[in-house]
Amino acid sequence: MENRDIVIIGAGLLGCFAARALSAWEAGVTVLEAREDVCTGISRANTGIVYAGYDTKPGTLKTRLCVRGSRSMEALCRELDVPFSRCGSLMIACGENAERMLRKKLADGMENGIDGLRLLNGAEVRSMEPNLTARITAGLYAPGTGTLDPWALGIAAYENASANGAEFRFGEAVRAIRRDGGGFVLETDGQTYRARAVLNCAGLAADRVRELCEAPLVRLFPSAADYLVLDDVARGFVRHVIFHEPEEKGKGLTLVPTADGNLLVGPTERDREGAPGATGGTGLARLRALCAEIVPELDLGLTIRSFGADRPNPYYVREENGVWQPEARSVNSFLFLSERGLVSLIGIKTPGLTCAKELGDLAAETLLEWLGGAAPNERFDP
Ligand SMILES: Cc1cc2nc3c(=O)[nH]c(=O)nc-3n(C[C@H](O)[C@H](O)[C@H](O)COP(=O)(O)OP(=O)(O)OC[C@H]3O[C@@H](n4cnc5c(N)ncnc54)[C@H](O)[C@@H]3O)c2cc1C
Repeated sequence: MENRDIVIIGAGLLGCFAARALSAWEAGVTVLEAREDVCTGISRANTGIVYAGYDTKPGTLKTRLCVRGSRSMEALCRELDVPFSRCGSLMIACGENAERMLRKKLADGMENGIDGLRLLNGAEVRSMEPNLTARITAGLYAPGTGTLDPWALGIAAYENASANGAEFRFGEAVRAIRRDGGGFVLETDGQTYRARAVLNCAGLAADRVRELCEAPLVRLFPSAADYLVLDDVARGFVRHVIFHEPEEKGKGLTLVPTADGNLLVGPTERDREGAPGATGGTGLARLRALCAEIVPELDLGLTIRSFGADRPNPYYVREENGVWQPEARSVNSFLFLSERGLVSLIGIKTPGLTCAKELGDLAAETLLEWLGGAAPNERFDP
């Protein structure tokens, strides 16, 4: 049996940033990761956007963390030597319904204290992005939006946490957790650990990991997404992140000029069709149709990759005749559950990348408080 102060389950963005935050303190931290490397889950396949903070509900934890995470991203990326592009974004509308949504986002953004937001007419949008369709009637400009490679950020957080003393163990899936005295006993296939506190950052499995020692409360019902990556020959086709707000219900198109110089197209929103992380024919066809509508001149022959992603949609569940049934609507806020030494981050979707450091800091603070504090790590180097 190995003894630790804190065990973190999962080495995605959240686990890596929590480990980094904890490595600033004299606390024995071990991260147990089921897979062979960091960031192979949700942190591998997402849109890589650092959100400005106008897109989330005013007054919520999500908005507070997003605004803080976005504002401090340059400093964080400088510390960790990760390329970051503050390219700005344009949310575009092609009609009255979508324009109404843009005005709502502008009002939310002002309430959230986001600087530089500006409502533009169609001609102004086209002068900034001439390759967009001439059908655009309005746009919401947000200079604070940016983009980076999510795994680059996760790898950097992992390397920094390791250098500061956090331990990472790969190929160690946590199979069992039981409360024991004031702490926990965790079992992987080959090891048993005793921990005083546990942080559950298991991504798509975070609900099931929590249920290894707690009654069901929230379950994840994943949906899928598809992306296309275009060769860097397409560099400069758009210079801002483009969010297309559709006139009808459904998901519009997102275009991201990535920090690497490629063009990322997607994501779709659809039911899972095959294995987790697989692309789907209907999703890819939808992306092509949206491109024909919004960026008709874009040469999709420049596609060099497609990839699929999974959204961890959380629903509160209640028991009915021995079966756990989800509520009608999924939970829209960040679920940060703190239960007697066990902290679970469940169903952290967008903007979890933007907030990764903030969520890691918050988790670390909660765990240290549970442990009654720790001395600072005098050798910590951010
Ligand atoms: C489609 C999509 C697009 C997104 N786009 C953006 C965006 O543009 N901007 C933004 O800010 N946010 C975005 N997000 C959100 C962001 O990507 C996530 O919030 C973040 O990556 C979640 O990281 P994580 O560490 O919780 O999960 P993961 O990266 O999935 O990590 C969980 C880890 O836990 C491990 N694990 C699971 N079970 C066990 C076990 N039993 N034992 C040990 N290890 C285990 C897994 O192997 C995995 O490595 C997007 C999310 C999605 C789904």
